[in-house]
Amino acid sequence: MTQRFCRKCMIPDYVEDKEEFISVYLDQIPPQDRTEEAVYDSRLKACSICEYYLNGMCRLCGCFVSIRAAHKGQRCPGDFGGTTGRWETG
Ligand code: SF4
Repeated sequence: MTQRFCRKCMIPDYVEDKEEFISVYLDQIPPQDRTEEAVYDSRLKACSICEYYLNGMCRLCGCFVSIRAAHKGQRCPGDFGGTTGRWETG
C-alpha cells in the first residue's frame, strides 16, 4: 500500500500542545464547510472502534480523525470488503 499523508493534518514537531493546535484548526473551518455536530459525533464514534484508529489518528490516511471528520466534504478513506468507508461525505 502506498503511504499517504494528509497535509492539512500534519503538525510541526515544534508544536507542543497538539490538542490546542487541533482546537484552533477546528475553529478556523468555515461554518459552511463544518460537519453538523450530530454527524461529527457519529463519525468520531465510528473511528473510535475502527481497527485503523490509533491515538487520535487514522492509520489509512494519516489524518487526525477529529480534523478529518469535521470537514463536511471529507469521507472515511477505508474500503471495508466492498463497502466504501465507515462514514460518508455530508
Ligand atoms: S478508516 Fe475511516 S473509520 Fe477508520 S479511523 Fe480511518 S477515517 Fe476513521
